[in-house]
Amino acid sequence: MANDYQFIIYEDRGAVVRLWHNRPDVGNAESPELLDELDDAVRRAEADPKVNVVVLAGKGKHFSAGHDLKRPRSSVPTTPETRLNFEERYYFEYCLRILDFKKPTIAQVQGACMAGGFMVANMCDLVVASEDAFFSDPVCVSLGAAAVEVLIHPYVMGMRKAKEFLFTGRRMPAAEALEIGMVNKVVPLADLDRETLALADKIAAAPPFAMKLIKKSLNRVWEAQGIRTVLNAHLDTHQLAHESTFMKELASRGLGATVQAGKSVAAG
Ligand code: ZN
Repeated sequence: MANDYQFIIYEDRGAVVRLWHNRPDVGNAESPELLDELDDAVRRAEADPKVNVVVLAGKGKHFSAGHDLKRPRSSVPTTPETRLNFEERYYFEYCLRILDFKKPTIAQVQGACMAGGFMVANMCDLVVASEDAFFSDPVCVSLGAAAVEVLIHPYVMGMRKAKEFLFTGRRMPAAEALEIGMVNKVVPLADLDRETLALADKIAAAPPFAMKLIKKSLNRVWEAQGIRTVLNAHLDTHQLAHESTFMKELASRGLGATVQAGKSVAAG
């Protein structure tokens, strides 16, 4: 099937499908339109029996700098009712579809992997990063938000690091992410494409049903620990931050302007 998306690329390599964020001019900022397309592509890859592995990637210098905060203010939900509906769909359910994806998934990360981009990348089973990659969820510090919508952090980086990461909003370089076990492999940027596909091809060559079953069992470790309850509860707590005086004042000046002024979020 021809690529019929505007903001992503569906690269069909047979047993491996790679889904690219394709807004490199804006740091692959994740607009609702991009996320709609990504979710459609995720469903398509899951339904295609010849696909064994899915890779999530980003065109250009960055994997993704996060949600698109520079959208027209008129298109941003402003009431608790409309915001929860919006965030449930675009940020929570779309992400959990990747977490629950029935086949192995790999994030291929270079440059900025921030906030919403961090959330999406960490839905994947494995992460391959280039040496220049860095990870950050600065929104507690920069926007007064309670992290991003899906609180995957303690599961992928451990509680101690997750607290420091969120309390400071700092950037974690790829080498440190490797050291703490948040990424599987760090390679030179020039090798990122090849190394990620080599890993994907290797997994795609394994018996697909066994891959499906072992992923199900491993994800059940988190299920048994209550991950779904934790993530659902956090989505609700996160909504409270949107209603805070601090965040409402920022929103009244426009989040995009705030982000630019604070230089705490790489836009591109
Ligand atoms: Zn939110």
